[in-house]
Amino acid sequence: MKPSLHIDNIVYELTEACNQCCRFCYNYWRDGSTPLPPPVPRLVRKTLRKLLSQASVGTVSFSGGEPMLLRNIHDLAMLARFRGAHVNVLTNGGLLTEDAVGNFKNIGVGAVQIPLLSADPAVHDYLTQVEGSWEKAVAATRRAVAAFGKGVFTVLVITKVNAPGIAETLRLIGDLGVKGVMVNRFNIGGMGILHSRELLLDRETLHGAFAAVEAFAASRPDMRFVSGVCTPLCVMDPSPYPHIQFTYCTTDFSRRPVTVNYKGDVRFCNHSPYILGNIYDRPVGEILTDPDILARYAEIPERCRDCNLLKRCNGGCRAASEQVYGTFAEADPMLGGV
Ligand code: SF4
Ligand code: SF4
Ligand code: SF4
Repeated sequence: MKPSLHIDNIVYELTEACNQCCRFCYNYWRDGSTPLPPPVPRLVRKTLRKLLSQASVGTVSFSGGEPMLLRNIHDLAMLARFRGAHVNVLTNGGLLTEDAVGNFKNIGVGAVQIPLLSADPAVHDYLTQVEGSWEKAVAATRRAVAAFGKGVFTVLVITKVNAPGIAETLRLIGDLGVKGVMVNRFNIGGMGILHSRELLLDRETLHGAFAAVEAFAASRPDMRFVSGVCTPLCVMDPSPYPHIQFTYCTTDFSRRPVTVNYKGDVRFCNHSPYILGNIYDRPVGEILTDPDILARYAEIPERCRDCNLLKRCNGGCRAASEQVYGTFAEADPMLGGV
């Protein structure tokens, strides 16, 4: 029987493990201090089945950690496709071989997202902390573009380290044939807390970076640019950047990336560290509509109470506030100057 609950977007975290150690990684379980548990393919499959029996899902994005570490990832994609979901794969590209791309294509995977952080291999590798990762990301992007065309998205995480070379990076991304670019400002969390001093963008650098993206975007109408991490409107007014699509946070679960991990833990979104409940204890629909949980996300930060932009801005990324301050009730830590 088809489940009655529908969720548009689920980020499904297949593992905590990763073959990179990016300085900006927002995964809340990462602070570089402990080894990460290895993937558990059977549990990942069991939990995906359980989830898809509790809700019909529009798009499931395989994430992690690094989802390509799962040897049964193609089987998982097939399962989700069979249940009617679109499947996206969010990978660093290091394990995205020709065969892997071909299999995803045959299964009907819709989109692949690969980060590319700089046109300069040394800068990319510095940020990922893995030598040779730039070469692999570029090769994986080429392979993916050949198979998926417009279904390939480059993720450009903008930090203080790579912001100066942003124009060259965008040129490289365009030359690789990519048509969709996520231009995400560094959003603090996980490993990024440890490296915040060197990565956090001051206002001037942030505006300069988005001005560079805007100039490039205006010259490439065949490409699409999305700022996927919301930035408080009092920090950045998006109107000077009409060629970039800005997204803003919402507490409405039908319009945000509800996140479930392979153990069945449900979270507000992929950046949030707070576990709302577990789908082995009660159905995901019950968890997401629990009045206590809704009340937690209805709180308004003190400094935003009288702001006439609140409805649109919602206080910035408050999952980042959860990571830094331990509460959703504070505005984006970007405002606190962490
Ligand atoms: S950002 Fe992605 S690739 Fe980098 S360490 Fe985190 S999960 Fe791995
Ligand atoms: S809602 Fe808060 S974070 Fe957003 S613009 Fe207003 S004061 Fe700034
Ligand atoms: S809290 Fe932050 S990461 Fe989560 S959906 Fe909102 S803007 Fe996105």
